[in-house]
Amino acid sequence: MPNENFVLEVEDLGVSFDGFKAVDGFNFYLTRNSVHVIIGPNGAGKTTVLDLICGKTRATTGSVKFKDKNIRGNREYRIVRQGIGRKFQTPSIYENLTVLENLELSHPKGRGVFSCFFYRRKPDIMQMCLDVAKEIGLEDKLETEGGILSHGQKQWLEIGMLLMQNPEIIMLDEPVAGMSVKEREATSKLIRKICQNRSVIVIEHDMEFVKEIADRVTVMHMGKVLSEGSMETVQSDPKVIEVYIGH
Ligand code: ADP
Repeated sequence: MPNENFVLEVEDLGVSFDGFKAVDGFNFYLTRNSVHVIIGPNGAGKTTVLDLICGKTRATTGSVKFKDKNIRGNREYRIVRQGIGRKFQTPSIYENLTVLENLELSHPKGRGVFSCFFYRRKPDIMQMCLDVAKEIGLEDKLETEGGILSHGQKQWLEIGMLLMQNPEIIMLDEPVAGMSVKEREATSKLIRKICQNRSVIVIEHDMEFVKEIADRVTVMHMGKVLSEGSMETVQSDPKVIEVYIGH
C-alpha cells in the first residue's frame, strides 16, 4: 500500500522468541503528521512492535521503511539518529539536573560528558531548549531539578528530551499511565500539538485518552493486526468486541 503520505511503512514484520511468534506478519502505515495509536490486550505484541521499529529487537521477517529506506536491521543508535525517537513507560530523566540541563544534554550537540570543564552554552541550542520547554509546559521550571517534578512533569520533560533530538517520528509507550486527570488532559493537548509537525505512535490502554488523541488506531491481538481504522471503526468491529469482551 505505498503512499507518499506515509512516513513509516511496516510490512510483514515478525519476530519469534523460542519459537513463540510475538509479532507475526504485522503491517502498519504511519501517515505524516498524525497520531496512530496501537491498542490490544496484554501480551498482544505492542511493545515488541516498537522494539522492532527502533532496532532494540531484531526482526526475523519483514521490512521497516522510513523515508524510503529499509531500516530493518539497523542498530538502535542509528535509527535514533535517522529520526525515530522512543520514550519508554518509566521516565528516565536526570533527577539531579535541572529541566534546562536535561533538555540541553539531550541535544545531539548539547552538553557532553566533559562539559563541566570547557562547555559554553550555545545560543541556538539554548533557544531550542526554551522553545521545547514552552511546548511541554515547563517554561517556568527551567531551573527546577528533575527529581522534584511531579510524575506528569517528568513524563513531559522526557518527551521534551526527545524533541531536542528533532525526530520525525516519536513513539510513546503508555504516556499517561499514573497521571492525574489534569495531567492527562495536558498530555493529550501536547501530543496533538506535537503531531502538527511530527508523526506520533502511541501504545495506550486508556480508551478515553485514545479517543482524544488518535487519528488512527491499530488493534493488535496475538502478534497480528486484528483491526485498523478510525476509533469509531475499530470500536464497532465485531472481532475487536469479541477479543475485549473475552478479556
Ligand atoms: P504487549 O506490549 O502487547 O503487552 P509484548 O510486546 O510486551 O506485549 O509481548 C508480546 C509477547 O512476547 C508476550 O507473550 C511476551 O511475553 C513475549 N515477549 C516479549 N519480549 C520477549 C523476550 N525478549 N523474550 C521472550 N518473550 C518475549
